[in-house]
Amino acid sequence: MSEERICQRCQGTGWILENAGGAQVARRCSCFDDRRKQALFDQARIPRRYQSCRLDNFEVHNDSHKDALKISRQFVKNYPAQDVGLVFIGPCGVGKTHMAVAIIRELIEKKRAVCLFYDFRELIREIQSTFTPDSTLSESDVLNPVFQSDVLVLDELGAKRTTAWVEETVFYIINHRYNHNKMTLFTTNYPDTDEPEDSRESFYKKGGESLVDRIGVRLRSRIYEMCKVVEMEGDDYRKMAKQASYRF
Ligand SMILES: [Zn+2]
Repeated sequence: MSEERICQRCQGTGWILENAGGAQVARRCSCFDDRRKQALFDQARIPRRYQSCRLDNFEVHNDSHKDALKISRQFVKNYPAQDVGLVFIGPCGVGKTHMAVAIIRELIEKKRAVCLFYDFRELIREIQSTFTPDSTLSESDVLNPVFQSDVLVLDELGAKRTTAWVEETVFYIINHRYNHNKMTLFTTNYPDTDEPEDSRESFYKKGGESLVDRIGVRLRSRIYEMCKVVEMEGDDYRKMAKQASYRF
């Protein structure tokens, strides 16, 4: 830490000495909590492109957005008193990741919860990379924060096709968190349907694949036990906003 950033109130000790009834008592300086909050943000791994996502700047375009926002606010308000996490389901670009990131940001700000964001593919890749002989990280280096964080966001569930190994690993992670009353927030582009024939609108179809096709029956049923489903609909607002910003 550079010289000028040291707190002037406590000279960086985190404590302030005060006189109370003739005796000196030490109380925490406000910078102590600021540092803790910053450390929580730093370790949450929120991707740069989502850094500015808040519940307050989520754009409501339809009723599903309104409902999702209401549920998300309620989730933050109730935390940690609720039993279930959330799974945001919907097509690309409707704001699922924005919502999940905004929730953990508020949980850090308001409740000082230990939160962690992981893209599903990235997590699998990181665990697999620890198996290579020259890896400097062990499997538990990657998994410990995933197990221990109070709230985990697993973004783009199903984006990587499950192999038996992936399914087993993810089930293990999710089950462990479930058994220890840790909240998990999922997002997925894959529709949830048991129907053999997918009659939904075309943007939901990905070669006819559903969430079950991508992650398997056992994992899907565990996620449903531990999460409330939040369906989000709409156009690809991210793409539309980007296109609108290109001036010709
Ligand atoms: Zn201070």
